[in-house]
Amino acid sequence: MRDVLDVHTHTLASGHAYNTIWEMARSAKEKGLALLGITDHAPQMPGSSHEFYFSNLKAVPRTLEGITVLQGVELNIMDYSGNVDLPETILCSMDVVIASLHTPCIRPGTIDENTSAYIEAMKNPYINIIGHPDDGRYEIDYERLVTASKEMGVLLEINNSSLNPEGLRKNTVANDRTILELCKKQQVPVILGSDAHVASDIGRHERANKLLAELDFPEKLVANRSVEALMQYINYGKRD
Ligand SMILES: [Zn+2]
Ligand SMILES: [Zn+2]
Repeated sequence: MRDVLDVHTHTLASGHAYNTIWEMARSAKEKGLALLGITDHAPQMPGSSHEFYFSNLKAVPRTLEGITVLQGVELNIMDYSGNVDLPETILCSMDVVIASLHTPCIRPGTIDENTSAYIEAMKNPYINIIGHPDDGRYEIDYERLVTASKEMGVLLEINNSSLNPEGLRKNTVANDRTILELCKKQQVPVILGSDAHVASDIGRHERANKLLAELDFPEKLVANRSVEALMQYINYGKRD
């Protein structure tokens, strides 16, 4: 399958990742990607950057080392009403916005509460992608989630790091299968993300791709297949 982009990656600004934006861009270019998205953890993740870091990203050129680099954020969903940790006044200048549940920021609730946290966050007009919805520490009604994804045009991520057997997230293979089967049935696109915290992991989607192949998941439902396929789902290019 064609896979030309990765928009879930972290730099030094996240506090627990290890490369600069420029090093990340160089690595993505060397790997032959057409587009890289940088989505550092938003301020409520312990050790990440202040909101001024995110509001000033307009200072960074969108072409670095010969590759298009989108500047965005991985927000923390802070409660079951879907509130996040950066205001819309900052999000409106972001190229790509992921929203995720992280244990330092929100405790797992009931299946209803966790599912509502995602669906309410998806109503935020600047949120483009739900990050690692396969994390079984948060039980989810996937039928409701996939239906919401289709209705609101917010992509669900198949996160390659989640599928690492040494990872902390639980039950991810089974949950990703459920998500993919529902998406295939309802014809809902997904996006693959590396969740790279080091430059060498950029573009690594091999575990996710293995699952797609096993389920005979249609390539036309994978936003990584071309830059144009991604563009309709993200903020980049939709602003003045
Ligand atoms: Zn992280
Ligand atoms: Zn995350």
